[in-house]
Amino acid sequence: MPRLTFALPPQYDARAVEPPLYARWLERGVFTARADSPREPYVIVIPPPNVTAELHMGHGLNNTIQDVLIRFERMRGREALWLPGTDHAGIATQNVVERILSKEGTTRFDLGREAFLARVWTYVRATGSTILEQLKQIGASCDWSRTRFTLDPALSRAVREVFVRLWEEGLIYRGHRVIHWCPRCLTSLSDEEAEFQEEAGKLYHIRYPVEGGLAPFLTVATTRPETMLGDTAVAVHPGDKRHRGFVGKKARLPIVGIEIPIIADDAVDPTFGTGFVKVTPAHDAGDFEIGLRHKLEMPLIMSEDGRMEDQSGSGKGEAGRVPPALRGLDRFVARDKIVEMLEAEGLLEKIEPHQHAVRHCYRCDTVVEPRLSDQWFVKMKPLAEPALAAYRAGTVRFVPERWGATYEHWMTNIRDWNISRQLWWGHRIPVFTCTACRHQWADRQNPDRCPRCDGPVEQDPDVLDTWFSSWLWPFSTLGWPADTPDLRRFYPGHTLVTAPEILFFWVARMIMSGLHFLGREPFRTVYLHGTVRDTQHRKMSKSLGNGIDPLDVVRLYGADALRWTVVAGTAVGSDLMLDPDDLDATFAPGRNFANKLWNIGRFILAQLPERVEPIDAIDPKSLTLADRWILSRAQATIAEATASLEQFRLDEAAKRCFDFAWKELADWYVEAVKPRLAPDGTPPSAAARRAPAAPGDIPSGAAPHAVLAYCFDTALRLLHPVVPFITEELWQKLPGRRDEELLALAPWPAARPELADAEAGVAFARVQEAVSAIRNIRAEYRIPPSTRVRAKVTATTDAARRAFEGERETITRLAQLGALALDGSRGQPPAEDGTPPGAAGARGAAAEGGVPSPAGAHAVLADGTDVFVALEGAVDVGRECKRLSDDLARLDRQLAGLAARFTKSEFVERAPADVVAREREKERAWQEQRRALANKLTALGCS
Ligand SMILES: [Zn+2]
Ligand SMILES: [Zn+2]
Repeated sequence: MPRLTFALPPQYDARAVEPPLYARWLERGVFTARADSPREPYVIVIPPPNVTAELHMGHGLNNTIQDVLIRFERMRGREALWLPGTDHAGIATQNVVERILSKEGTTRFDLGREAFLARVWTYVRATGSTILEQLKQIGASCDWSRTRFTLDPALSRAVREVFVRLWEEGLIYRGHRVIHWCPRCLTSLSDEEAEFQEEAGKLYHIRYPVEGGLAPFLTVATTRPETMLGDTAVAVHPGDKRHRGFVGKKARLPIVGIEIPIIADDAVDPTFGTGFVKVTPAHDAGDFEIGLRHKLEMPLIMSEDGRMEDQSGSGKGEAGRVPPALRGLDRFVARDKIVEMLEAEGLLEKIEPHQHAVRHCYRCDTVVEPRLSDQWFVKMKPLAEPALAAYRAGTVRFVPERWGATYEHWMTNIRDWNISRQLWWGHRIPVFTCTACRHQWADRQNPDRCPRCDGPVEQDPDVLDTWFSSWLWPFSTLGWPADTPDLRRFYPGHTLVTAPEILFFWVARMIMSGLHFLGREPFRTVYLHGTVRDTQHRKMSKSLGNGIDPLDVVRLYGADALRWTVVAGTAVGSDLMLDPDDLDATFAPGRNFANKLWNIGRFILAQLPERVEPIDAIDPKSLTLADRWILSRAQATIAEATASLEQFRLDEAAKRCFDFAWKELADWYVEAVKPRLAPDGTPPSAAARRAPAAPGDIPSGAAPHAVLAYCFDTALRLLHPVVPFITEELWQKLPGRRDEELLALAPWPAARPELADAEAGVAFARVQEAVSAIRNIRAEYRIPPSTRVRAKVTATTDAARRAFEGERETITRLAQLGALALDGSRGQPPAEDGTPPGAAGARGAAAEGGVPSPAGAHAVLADGTDVFVALEGAVDVGRECKRLSDDLARLDRQLAGLAARFTKSEFVERAPADVVAREREKERAWQEQRRALANKLTALGCS
């Protein structure tokens, strides 16, 4: 019995469906991976969002991709673990809390270290799970029972173990050198944290008087004149013939008024500026190297917060370089003041505009100041070599492949990693110093006394770079250094999904740490996806105000619509463009698809009886061409979607499944099969009665229901990873489903090669082509949908004729025909009854036994099949002739006008070549239209 009483709500309401379904998945433990499962594992670790973060579109994209992959592999029978968690995000989190304190009129220094940390913990405990809760709203199927935080005791233990091991291996050292310093965050930064930004700056040409020299002065060029207070030399390239005579002489440093040597060094670029460069060893990394080679003094002339100030304790700088007029000034204020002073002394030669890259703090965007200081470093070469070898051996690969070359270049030129930060929030560096005997060591426990002399000990005040904990994420989260069941089962993992911006910050370092500490790469494939941008191709960001809140999208259109849009919109290696000013248009495709799927589901589910035969119980002989075709399309879709997902072509998989569900299943098969589904007692459509298939009747019975149920079930499984909610909701309602069954745990559709049917594919494509051709003619002649027309299809082969005969009813109904004649067919010529009034006496194709009527339109299909549609009676021939003649006359006038222009020689001679070419192109197009119109006029028999 058909489930006549069965009905779904007419509108799909994502907000009513999604939260209860998610709760049900959680309750059933669908996302929880078991370490003792016999299934082969599949592991993704989440790029841990900052604990202060709120979900933005970048997270939306990144996590949807991960969820699609993890759901796909879970359905394929893998023990899928998607491990979630958050990062303590040293600078970022400390900044957030410092800003709160600043509003309260206090600072972290007022609070002191312990009270400040307590304050940060309070903040993190209150808000830290926000982003994880938001991920649930977009359907992320993370194993929440394994949620980790980089400051968890177990993860902190891993951090400490790694630090001590590296120390014992001699890979950690104290470096005295120029590092990137953020004067706002008051901490050093790694090379990667000090990001370059292209800027329109200025190049200042400054004259330094030369004592007893060949010229009264030399000219240096600099973008940072304020650093001249820290100059301890002027350098030229040793091969620079222009300036050779200056080497060994002295220059007088303006403003400071001291003498500095003129030296020769290979590091000088003779083509920059005048070939003379100022050397500021304490405030420039390159100058620092020159300073080491020439044993120069290295005075610091700025405070840590970027104000002009003589700093003691920086080694051998003589005091009193910063004059009272500049003391305490911010570096950029001082820059202007120094330029004024130089101008007054006649020592400013010129200022030029200058485009250059300036490093900014990646957390607060302040211009980074190079600064000489003492920091802890990790020697990276010994760690990088195995990581490079793993890539070259193919055990780690990148998608898209081009990132491999970037990785290789960076790993080949890797520099030591500055891991100390002058912050309080983070893992404190486990280095201890005895205040009595100065013994210094790294320790797994906090020692009370010096192991050598029993003297009192002090711990290093700094904390580790945030990335020093995240680079251990793939194994610290599984319990390492303890030998846990999780570690044994789920390490190494499989896929890492992230944005290219953190390839070096994070991905490369995870590969290094995994190989170094566990001897295995942490994952085999790194999928680097694009960036979310607005319609002007600008990266979405808070500061630009061009972002989209994914939770707004979920509220307005549902999580499935969000997921569909980001997946379908992101090809491998390309960016995702979204329009923040028009959410409706941006997310309409996703929402429309959900609605369409719902409507397909409503129709199909209402047609299916309580019990449907499985597809393999159906006698193949009872299948019609349409049945065989859609079953074959299902096989092709399974194969293509599976292959696409395996290759990270998520957009292609989504679109293939979309085409199957919407275009093939709904638009063609469901339409074709409708009369066969009609419940007992309901007469099939009039057209079907008039044009019975010959030989035999329309097959009925179990087959259409079984085919429909199988295909819809397959479509839902294939679509589930991308749109998990609506597919689960519909799948639950398929006949024969037991209550406890969940699509999220259902198997991925298996290929059934016996259902692949190439012949049916070709044959049904002919039927589709014939219907489309008739529909096109109907549209072209503006035949109203209610008007039934008569058509004649003349096949060129027996195979084609058989296809048309088999689906005669389908063609008749879908093309809204009053009669269909098949040339050479054994069926009866179309009956006269039912043809539209006015057509009765027409010179119809059928009436004259196969002679085409002049009043009609032809189309020729790819295989040569001729499709003819009688227009007499269907259109007002007289009026159509008039319309076509008017169009023809208008085109003739336009063409004449163009011809007149071309005959004027000055147009062809004077007009730009591309304008002439455009006009010629226009002429060709009009002529083409004219030919088509003329053919139509002939076909209609207009005089
Ligand atoms: Zn900063
Ligand atoms: Zn000691």
